[in-house]
Amino acid sequence: MTRPYNFSAGPAAMPEEVLHLAASEMLDWHESGMGVMEMSHRGSEFISIYEQAEVDFRELLDIPKEFKILFMQGGGLGENAIVPMNLSKGGEIDFVLSGSWGQKSFKEATKYATPRLAATSESEGFTRLPDPSTWSLSKEASYVHLCTNETIHGVECHTLPNLKALGSKAPLVIDFSSHVLSRTVDWSRVGLAFAGAQKNIGPAGLTIVVVREVLIGQAMDICPSAFDYKLVSAAESMYNTPPTYAIYIAGLTFQWMKRQEEGGQQGVGAMELRNKAKAQLLYDFLDNSSFYENRVNPMDRSRMNVPFFLKDETRNEAFLKGAKANGLLQLKGHKSVGGMRASIYNAMPLKGVQVLVEYLREFERSYS
Ligand SMILES: *Cc1c(COP(=O)(O)O)cnc(C)c1O
Repeated sequence: MTRPYNFSAGPAAMPEEVLHLAASEMLDWHESGMGVMEMSHRGSEFISIYEQAEVDFRELLDIPKEFKILFMQGGGLGENAIVPMNLSKGGEIDFVLSGSWGQKSFKEATKYATPRLAATSESEGFTRLPDPSTWSLSKEASYVHLCTNETIHGVECHTLPNLKALGSKAPLVIDFSSHVLSRTVDWSRVGLAFAGAQKNIGPAGLTIVVVREVLIGQAMDICPSAFDYKLVSAAESMYNTPPTYAIYIAGLTFQWMKRQEEGGQQGVGAMELRNKAKAQLLYDFLDNSSFYENRVNPMDRSRMNVPFFLKDETRNEAFLKGAKANGLLQLKGHKSVGGMRASIYNAMPLKGVQVLVEYLREFERSYS
């Protein structure tokens, strides 16, 4: 059976191999007599799953040892509160906004701290990343927040800013939920990175936080214990029960990723090459068409989330119906932006994007 191609923005398509493997181990993991959902998180079986997942994640993203990796719950929106409670001491935070996820983070931070708008592209409909030379950063800021891939607006930061060169001493906090593991990360420019798992990693419910050890240990008194990085870190992410099954699936995805090869590269390097090829194929087609359009500044376009519009929007419904009939699912755009959106995360093969482009071409032809 061939499954349809699923372009959901999240929770999103998983590598089929991972789903098959998880299914085969559902009732009995490695002859333990138990499924992973049924194991104590403190037992040796689960501890081995957890440790391997952490090692693989660190290896895939080449995370230096001065960073701790925390497996938490609460999602991206949870971190919008958890990060300020852990890093801001109630003081100033600089926000750079290039889409609605950054906006949400800003709004949540007002409950705990004093967010400042360092830069925003809102007046341009969030179709670009504000140029770093225009950011107005505060000397007092406890950190600078940037969502490095705006899932809804399709804006991606392709080079992490060098805050020191911009006159700020603050650490950079990135929400990389929707492009984690799709590309390499320059950790020298990062203080903390967080990601919900449901885009590029695995099931919803797991949130991964990568944080410099020097930033741990300054949580505000109001911070719930289960969300205090110091307590979570000291307990190796077992302060309370972690999302065990989600961690297991994430681990299977990491192993799958390590097996991927492309252009002489493995792991994230292979994913990045594939993701570039997929995105280029789709953007090139859209740019050369007079029937469809993508409105994002070409320099800032996301490789993961490609919002696009039919120039004649009265055809949207027919487009989506035809797409579904052709085995192309969940292409409807986010309600705040409208139009269509193709999310082409790691698990989407090049073939899926080729089939999508073929459908786009056919649909256009049927109207000319
Ligand atoms: C999906 C997503 C989130 C998700 O937050 P949840 O609380 O897990 O729903 C956060 N940030 C970005 C950039 C996202 O794409």
